[in-house]
Amino acid sequence: MSVLVFADSTDGKFKKTAFEVVSYGKKVAEQLGSNVIALTIKANDASELYKYGAEKVLTVSNDALNTFNAKEYASVISQAATAQNADVVIVDASIDSLYLAPIVAVNLEAGYASNVVDAPTSTSPFTVKRKAFSNKAFSNTVIATDKKIIGLAKNSFGIHENPVTGTSESFEATLAESGVKSEKIERVTGKVTIADADIVVSAGRGLKGPENWGMIEELAEVLGAATACSKPVSDLGWRPHGEHVGQTGKPVAANLYIAIGISGAIQHLAGINASKVKVVINTDPEAPFFKAADYGIVGDAFEVVPKLIEKLKAF
Ligand code: FAD
Repeated sequence: MSVLVFADSTDGKFKKTAFEVVSYGKKVAEQLGSNVIALTIKANDASELYKYGAEKVLTVSNDALNTFNAKEYASVISQAATAQNADVVIVDASIDSLYLAPIVAVNLEAGYASNVVDAPTSTSPFTVKRKAFSNKAFSNTVIATDKKIIGLAKNSFGIHENPVTGTSESFEATLAESGVKSEKIERVTGKVTIADADIVVSAGRGLKGPENWGMIEELAEVLGAATACSKPVSDLGWRPHGEHVGQTGKPVAANLYIAIGISGAIQHLAGINASKVKVVINTDPEAPFFKAADYGIVGDAFEVVPKLIEKLKAF
């Protein structure tokens, strides 16, 4: 019996969430009295994972896996889980993982719990704590199947060093499909993505028009942040749909979320409230966002944001 974690990477480098899932996998393995094995696809330095407790790292480097394909990736993870006799498979909470985890669950006839935030509260029955109702509540969920899939929510368990002397070996997987049925057609490079970002700078209809996003992009660049927006902003075509965050957009679980000219409608807050620190800049002191925020500035974005950029640049 073992715990298998999928340590995801971009352009050969591990994502921060890879270290989170390995740290989490180590904890689960300790609770089960087993060991943690990490699986990587196209990552450059597998040994980086030893630091967080991965005793064994399986590396897959098939060129057919250069582009993400949920079915193929799920097939590779399932094959590795079977080969390693893994009872628990752990993935992160990225959009890619949300696609592939249910397929892994079907392949392994396993129960799947997404949005898990902490180590199992019990191993018998196997019970995990998850975010529920748009992150407004927690639920304790029993995974009753022999095999279990866990989707770990970002920024919930943290990264914990637990150095081990690990080994690394290549894993030869049989690819599931002859013809690719799904394809990722958008890839953003050279910019922080919302899913990976520690800081997200988000703006809403208060910005008046797309021509005013220069200062938002500049603030994001100074902070090393991703840019995001409210739904109406992307509906109006001011910003790409990939930036829309909220209940019907991308979820955000950043360390810092800065909302500029966003009112704080419940559907917006539902998608971003897993962020640790929330800051709002809004002219209207009655805007609902002030109730949800940790810090607020009542002020005009066109005055506040340039000053903020100036101060941060001088920092
Ligand atoms: P507004 O509500 O128009 O707010 C603009 C804010 O800017 C105001 O508070 C105003 O005081 C402030 N402002 C104006 N001028 C300035 C200035 N110069 N400086 C600073 N502040 C200023 N919305 C989402 O965002 N994400 C979702 O996923 C989402 N899903 C939805 C799903 C459903 C089923 C429905 C019905 C709605 C959904 N919405 C979603 C829409 C949501 O209800 C709100 O309409 C939307 O979030 C409002 O966007 P906004 O805050 O940018 O605009």
